[in-house]
Amino acid sequence: MNEQTVTSPIKKCQQCGRMLPQAALSCFSCGAYEFEAAEPPDSGKVYSYTTIRVPPEGFNDNQPYNVVVVEIAEGMRLLAIQTEDVEGSLEINDSVGLEMGATGLLTAKKR
Ligand SMILES: [Zn+2]
Repeated sequence: MNEQTVTSPIKKCQQCGRMLPQAALSCFSCGAYEFEAAEPPDSGKVYSYTTIRVPPEGFNDNQPYNVVVVEIAEGMRLLAIQTEDVEGSLEINDSVGLEMGATGLLTAKKR
């Protein structure tokens, strides 16, 4: 594994302070092109999820697992995986904690 720094999935507009997805090229509010780093989100609400029982190559260690769409306070929806308490534990609108792993993959844990 290389030593590349893992970046947060969100960033902050330097001009107006709006939080944006890391992939945004310019600010959705003011059009600025300068951004600053933002801490990865640590919580959100379940917008939707699906259970993966036949994982793709590389995800065999945790099966089944949930792929969770989490709506964070900043108004964005991010993808996370849930590997503990998978079967039947999540409901739409549940609060979940988010943790960013060393590979940049967000993990959701029910609160
Ligand atoms: Zn802005």
